Amino acid sequence: MIRYYDPIAALPGVGKKRSELYNNIGIMTVGDLLTYYPREYIDLTEPVLISETPIDETSAVRVTVDRKLAAQRIRQGLVLYKITAFDDSGKIIIVFYNNRFAYEELEEGRTYRLYGKVSGNMVRREMNSPLVVKDDDMLIRPKYRLTEGLTAQMIITNVKYALDALGERIDEFLPDDIRAQYELAAEEYAIRNVHFPESQHAAEISRRRLGFDELLVFTSAMKLVKRSNSAVTSCIMNPCDVDEYAGSLPFELTNAQKRVCGEIFTDMTKDTPMNRLVQGDVGSGKTAVAAAACFLAYKNGYQAALMAPTEILAVQHAQTLSKFLEPLGISVGLLTGSMTQKQKNEIKSRLADGSLSVVTGTHALISASTEFKRLGLIITDEQHRFGVEQRKLLAGKGEHPHKLVMSATPIPRTLGLILYGDLDISIIDEMPKGRQKIETYAVTGKLRQRAQNFVGQQIDAGHQAYIVCPMIDDDPESELQSVTAYAEQLGKSVLGKYSTGLLHGRLPADEKENIMNRFKAGEIQILVSTTVIEVGVDVPNATVIMIESAERFGLAQLHQLRGRVGRGSDKSYCILLTDNPTEDVRKRLKIMSETSDGFAIAEEDMRIRGAGEFFGVKQSGAAGFKIADIYDRQLMNDVNSAVNTLFERSADLTETPLLRERAMALMLKNGEEGMN
Ligand code: ADP
Ligand code: MG
Repeated sequence: MIRYYDPIAALPGVGKKRSELYNNIGIMTVGDLLTYYPREYIDLTEPVLISETPIDETSAVRVTVDRKLAAQRIRQGLVLYKITAFDDSGKIIIVFYNNRFAYEELEEGRTYRLYGKVSGNMVRREMNSPLVVKDDDMLIRPKYRLTEGLTAQMIITNVKYALDALGERIDEFLPDDIRAQYELAAEEYAIRNVHFPESQHAAEISRRRLGFDELLVFTSAMKLVKRSNSAVTSCIMNPCDVDEYAGSLPFELTNAQKRVCGEIFTDMTKDTPMNRLVQGDVGSGKTAVAAAACFLAYKNGYQAALMAPTEILAVQHAQTLSKFLEPLGISVGLLTGSMTQKQKNEIKSRLADGSLSVVTGTHALISASTEFKRLGLIITDEQHRFGVEQRKLLAGKGEHPHKLVMSATPIPRTLGLILYGDLDISIIDEMPKGRQKIETYAVTGKLRQRAQNFVGQQIDAGHQAYIVCPMIDDDPESELQSVTAYAEQLGKSVLGKYSTGLLHGRLPADEKENIMNRFKAGEIQILVSTTVIEVGVDVPNATVIMIESAERFGLAQLHQLRGRVGRGSDKSYCILLTDNPTEDVRKRLKIMSETSDGFAIAEEDMRIRGAGEFFGVKQSGAAGFKIADIYDRQLMNDVNSAVNTLFERSADLTETPLLRERAMALMLKNGEEGMN
């Protein structure tokens, strides 16, 4: 008997070799295979007539085999098989290269459906190496992500077997009334039909059901984590007034900042650890809020650690926190991988003996040799949810410390609820006073020279500029090439006379830091860079950013980049250059010039592009969903409301034991401490 959690090799026909191929793409068990959902389908249910197939496009036809011509040996190693076939409208030639098996399978006089690209002309059509399906066989066929050595047919055969073997043992885990309320297909039906749909409609409702499941299990798991977290006591702190901290800042906190500080202080004075996400638009002043949390920890004799995703940011956070906290007598240190051993040792010993109160750093903070005397607060500055594992390791350096997560990018609300369901959320929804709207212009490359003149004027007025240079692709080798070539071009332009720094991913960390520091100090007037400046860099004297090939970026990313300017009191500008002004590009860039609200832009970005893209190519797995469409707002709302209903019925999901089991399994998969 085959079981869901059996290793994939339990299936007939899956030997050592195929099992390894499966393992390579993450399929370990029979269950993994069943959730290896097809990305799309080949639909053979509505064939077109041969005479109506468009040339050089892919079509499905229904034909009867007329004659199998003799195999032709073209040259050594190349054998051509031709078959003539027809339908009511005319003839077509089917061609296979070296595929003797496909050729032999076809029988003269029998009817088949073919799917493939048609070549030739109006009188003589050909289909090369089509997919061939018997007329009474499965007519909507799954398209899986394949890998060398693993064919679609192999996967189909294995999935079919697994489905038949498991059959009715695929349990429904949702109560009937929930299924009815949200119009969800039955579980078993959905798993069957996601692979081998009876119709397009069956595929759609099955995908919706499974996407619903995926989000439901994820959200449930995070709710369970949240509950289990709240069971643990931790560093209980005595409250203090926000003004004690705010009094020594060089500016007045906004009301939103004060409110969020209050929420944080309340959390930290409870006997359960804080688990809070602070969201705020670019420039809304999240760091000042983080510093407030450090202040409260310090007042109570605890240490605080802030972990950033990049070295540049860690350095900058150290500088900002020093500025805010040192006047209050709080020591702030930095720990990064590129520091000398001696420097690192010194910081580490001060963390261990408790003489250093606040530290910012990169992943060096979580290295085994870093110890704290009394860690009471950890803060992570995260691009998206990628810091989960690191966050856990850092938390392990204290005894259930309070946890604060700062999200570097605005995320649409519905998505935030799902992705950060294990956290309480605070939103800084107000910008510091005196901030002016950043004037944003989208122009074509024809106006590049004028744009450069404008940048020059800003510099002449004593300001600084960012230029984000185009990237040919994401390959680091060509990154270097394109950035150097661009800088060379720039040297010959009107901007050539200014001092320029080059920042790109390939530079060693200390070199990056050096350039950033010189830019901050004003020695460098133009910082030419790839997108490494994207997150968080803060140089208030920079008033203009020019972004080349702006069409290559997502709106959320452009918003991040634009947020590098407008950080001081001076009027700031963003120039979006594109050499590719299609209608679509124009529309998107227009949104940038009209909107300055990061949350609105994020919503728009998600609506226009896929979630995968929203997260950027490298983080496509960040959300980690296999089938759920996280732009589908209706779906997300449904899931949120279903989860609430289920948790109201039984706080630990005891009334839906199968859902509970799945959610617990997911929690375990994400680490003992859950997903946090
Ligand atoms: P972000 O939310 O993007 O991380 P930062 O914390 O980097 O924003 O803050 C952006 C800039 O605004 C910094 O230079 C910071 O010192 C300044 N800032 C923060 N809060 C205020 C405030 N209430 N009034 C004026 N300036 C502020
Ligand atoms: Mg920031």
